[in-house]
Amino acid sequence: MKTRVVVLGAGFGGLELTTLLSDGMGDAIDVVLVDRAESFVFGYSKLDVMFGRQTAGAVQHLYRDVVKPGVRLLRSEVRSIDPVTKRVVTDAEALEADILVVALGADYDLGATPGLAEGGNEFYSVPGAFALREVLERFRGGRAIVGVMGKTFKCPPAPSEAAFLLHDLLVARGRRSASEITLVMPFGTPIPPSPDTSVAILEAFAERGITFVKDSVVQSIDPGRHVAVLGDGREMPFDLLLGVPVHRVPQVVVDSGLASHPHDWVPVHKPTLETRFPGVYAVGDVNGVGTPKAGVFAEGAARVVAEAILARIRGGAAPEAYKGQGSCYIEFGHGEVGRVDVDFLSGPKPTGTFQAPSAALVAEKTRFGSSRVERWFRR
Ligand SMILES: Cc1cc2nc3c(=O)[nH]c(=O)nc-3n(C[C@H](O)[C@H](O)[C@H](O)COP(=O)(O)OP(=O)(O)OC[C@H]3O[C@@H](n4cnc5c(N)ncnc54)[C@H](O)[C@@H]3O)c2cc1C
Repeated sequence: MKTRVVVLGAGFGGLELTTLLSDGMGDAIDVVLVDRAESFVFGYSKLDVMFGRQTAGAVQHLYRDVVKPGVRLLRSEVRSIDPVTKRVVTDAEALEADILVVALGADYDLGATPGLAEGGNEFYSVPGAFALREVLERFRGGRAIVGVMGKTFKCPPAPSEAAFLLHDLLVARGRRSASEITLVMPFGTPIPPSPDTSVAILEAFAERGITFVKDSVVQSIDPGRHVAVLGDGREMPFDLLLGVPVHRVPQVVVDSGLASHPHDWVPVHKPTLETRFPGVYAVGDVNGVGTPKAGVFAEGAARVVAEAILARIRGGAAPEAYKGQGSCYIEFGHGEVGRVDVDFLSGPKPTGTFQAPSAALVAEKTRFGSSRVERWFRR
């Protein structure tokens, strides 16, 4: 009997995990990878599309191209998860698993920010970012806010990147001097674990005249008056608001009992990413392991879980503990890319080191994406 591994979610975590299981076992394993979407989009590609650097079609990697030995891709909505019996119900069929991996990512709670749906534009979902392309094409300058709405959000550098790219867009259009750009963030510095990175970003903001409002979130929006209201009651008028919506645990995960609350990410045993249910793992943004919500961390977690599954099937040593390490590329605008290497779990506190923007890092970021596409989607 082949071991049946059911992986819920074909994002960064799910794609890396199934690739490793297929590489390790081929047809000797029975993996079902479930996702409701038609295609995978890298997080950073959302910025590329909204700022007109790529077309939507060019950044959508179709799941029908995932053809790997031992892996079946099921395109369907996950409706319920029973972590005790490891039974999952999807719109298409019910699945029984020997090992279950939940990699459903983070959902967005647009309703948590009154006025966002009517008066602002969120750029974190695929449809939100793609729709912004037209909005930004039409934008002729004015008061722009990049506003984070909750304390936990994916890819901490992304709001700063959005501010840099908006600056470039307005410069290219000759509208920068007629505009203001303000970034509202819940942190004291742009990248708290890496003071060097934060200094570099703050210096680049100062050079470009971007205002950084720290330790704040956009709490609500008054669409009639075009005003963003911050957590402390301050009001900021705007002509364009690019929002990072409140993140939440997907409802199907809350209903399963794996998470106790929409804002309580799935608790896991940090070294192994196993939940309190034996044989049930939570990988990537959906878990509460304490690393930032970013693809590189989802991928690192997937590697540890893949090794544990392979060791369990073949026998062999358990993998090393998950260390929570990862490198994130940061777009500074002007075609420049820097990098921060962060380590969340190996030491007593998170640390991060900065690599200044360089041509080598531009090429490295391109390779980062193309190598994943090649590994995950090659036929
Ligand atoms: C603007 C932006 C820029 C970013 N830049 C970077 C970057 O440069 N580097 C980086 O490392 N990270 C970046 N990220 C973050 C990165 O995209 C996420 O952290 C990463 O995708 C998380 O991987 P995951 O596997 O946990 O979840 P996801 O990749 O979100 O995958 C979850 C999958 O589950 C599926 N799903 C959810 N619910 C259901 C359901 N009920 N039924 C069926 N399927 C379901 C979804 O369709 C999705 O495919 C960025 C994010 C944004 C928004």
